[in-house]
Amino acid sequence: MDVTLLPGFNPGPFTGAGNNTYLLNGRCPTLIDAATGEARHLAALDEALAGVRLEQVLVTHAHSDHAEGSSAVAARWPDAIFRKVPWPELDGRYGVDWQPLADGDEVEAGDGCLRVVHTPGHAPDHVCLHDESTGTLFVADLVVLGSSVVIPATRGGSLTDYLQSLRCILELAPARMLPAHGEPIEDPRRVLTEYLEHRQRREEQVLAALEAGARTAEAIVSRIYPGLSSSLLAAAKESVLAHLFKLRDDARVRPESEEWELER
Ligand SMILES: [Zn+2]
Repeated sequence: MDVTLLPGFNPGPFTGAGNNTYLLNGRCPTLIDAATGEARHLAALDEALAGVRLEQVLVTHAHSDHAEGSSAVAARWPDAIFRKVPWPELDGRYGVDWQPLADGDEVEAGDGCLRVVHTPGHAPDHVCLHDESTGTLFVADLVVLGSSVVIPATRGGSLTDYLQSLRCILELAPARMLPAHGEPIEDPRRVLTEYLEHRQRREEQVLAALEAGARTAEAIVSRIYPGLSSSLLAAAKESVLAHLFKLRDDARVRPESEEWELER
């Protein structure tokens, strides 16, 4: 498969160096993710297409750094088709008519096919796209090398789903993963295993904090991340809440008014 990395030119605190989008050239020119509509991204896409029409855009999930550029891409390539797994609360923001994708769909792309693998957790509509002929998996925000992924517990994220998605991809055993942020991942098994172990250790810390008497997400945050700068507190609280909701799903903790109790 002929894959060209096109940076989104949207660096920032939540996007790192900016988003990676990928153009698959061939019979069915396909863009994976629309980024944010930066003029330099559109110019790079124009140049990489070299006069060929853009057939479709596959959007991995509705977070703005992946989807917001859709309207700008649609304005430049009006015949392009936009596809994603529906997330009705957010999809309407982006000014394009979405064709729905579903888990297991096989979509023509470039000179081959991509299999849609629904991987909720970071977002409810999140997908990975698998080129089964080469073992290349476009992983979007499932994994980012050298960092962990935010699970926005109060905005559509689910750690229970995310762990299931990591296990699903471990089983799929891709040869190589191309993420939406950061460098390509050439050793998927090791990175996915480390991700699962990291969440396991974090869960043990949350349980230990509860055991030691912390009763709120804030109290657990100050035990697990002592001295955390105030700008990172909100993200840390979301992460702790993601663990608490997962532990509730597992029937290991229960919410009591504003507090959390261990199940005995
Ligand atoms: Zn995202």
